[in-house]
Amino acid sequence: MHLYILPSQTFLSCQICGGLRFGRREVKMTTTGMTFFDLDWMNKSAEGAICVRCGFVHTFMGNAHQWVAPDQVDPADLPDDPLAERPAQ
Ligand SMILES: [Zn+2]
Repeated sequence: MHLYILPSQTFLSCQICGGLRFGRREVKMTTTGMTFFDLDWMNKSAEGAICVRCGFVHTFMGNAHQWVAPDQVDPADLPDDPLAERPAQ
């Protein structure tokens, strides 16, 4: 899947390798004692976007991101992937 970042209006590219495809996984954000500080929202689960190529996990909370199936994405809208295989010249 691709991951669209709403505030920047761009698709996520991996911080480590520049990859553009991610797996989705729920990430529990367990924090003890946060209720006392009225920070309950920090105990909600986050969403991990795992880079398919290098495995780096980008973690998001809130609603500022949107998963998009690759067949719904115009490749021209994706950031450059420095490691993408290019056609032989
Ligand atoms: Zn990566």
